[in-house]
Amino acid sequence: MPKRCKICGEEAFVYLPQHNLALCREHFVQRHERVVLDTIRKHRMFSKKDKVLVALSGGKDSVGLLWILKKHGFNVSALFIDLGMGAHQKRVNEVIDQVAQRTGVPVVRYSLKEHYGVDMPELFRRYRRRHPCSVCGTVKRYLINKLALEMGADAVATGHHLDDEVSVLLSNTLRWDDEYLRRQSLVLPKTHPKLVKKVKPLAFVTAAEMNTYAQAENLPHVEAPCPFSKGARLLAIKELLDKLEEVSPGTKLQFYRKFYPFKEKYLEDGKPPQLRECRVCGMPTTAEVCAFCRIMGKA
Ligand code: AMP
Ligand code: ZN
Ligand code: ZN
Repeated sequence: MPKRCKICGEEAFVYLPQHNLALCREHFVQRHERVVLDTIRKHRMFSKKDKVLVALSGGKDSVGLLWILKKHGFNVSALFIDLGMGAHQKRVNEVIDQVAQRTGVPVVRYSLKEHYGVDMPELFRRYRRRHPCSVCGTVKRYLINKLALEMGADAVATGHHLDDEVSVLLSNTLRWDDEYLRRQSLVLPKTHPKLVKKVKPLAFVTAAEMNTYAQAENLPHVEAPCPFSKGARLLAIKELLDKLEEVSPGTKLQFYRKFYPFKEKYLEDGKPPQLRECRVCGMPTTAEVCAFCRIMGKA
């Protein structure tokens, strides 16, 4: 591993094996932000005129994303959903306070318990047959879209990074799930008046890089993983991909990059998803009653 920054020759702060690149703190920060800004521009995620809402979890990824957008002059606000995750939630709430203070970005807080009379652990108990991450994901996706719509956001940006994207891609490929593969994208356009555009500006940076960035910029963030995520199949897939990446740096990036031309060639059928409105809440869904209303027991 080279010990000197490739750009200025100062002592290296980080080595990026997939790019065979050593950088000092300053040049790492510069490069990292450029990769994210290039992703936003190349994939036409949003412009400086748009109202961007960052879905903020308190983890290094969404905090780092918010920081980059604010630093580069985007019109950004944040939405944090308090899921009532027991003892873990206390630390998350503290971090959200620190992030709001440090960035000066307005953070909207929305409590699941306050609005629906139930917290996430209670929903996990009710739906033991589904993995907690799947229940939690459905609830978060629904609420983030609904609130973003009410707030008049042009786009919602989430902190999904390359490791998230690649593990989902491999998981779907292992099942040859063509419907999910077709749906996987770093930009989900507004296909219905009640759906807000979703974007993933961190799709080409790794979890490790986000960690280094949080360290370099000294960002407050929650370190502990969610206590309910244990045993998730995706975690095992992530470990597998980490091992592969170690033996063959760049595997993740290549797998992900080459997916999109492949998808365009073999998977796109040009048909927009057939959406109708949920019988209970009126939000767009492919079923008669949406997944959120079913979880909330309103069906
Ligand atoms: P996860 O589903 O936990 O892997 O998180 C993926 C992304 O969803 C994060 O990077 C955030 O952008 C967003 N997110 C996760 N949890 C929350 C939350 N409680 N409130 C708002 N956004 C969230
Ligand atoms: Zn340097
Ligand atoms: Zn519904």
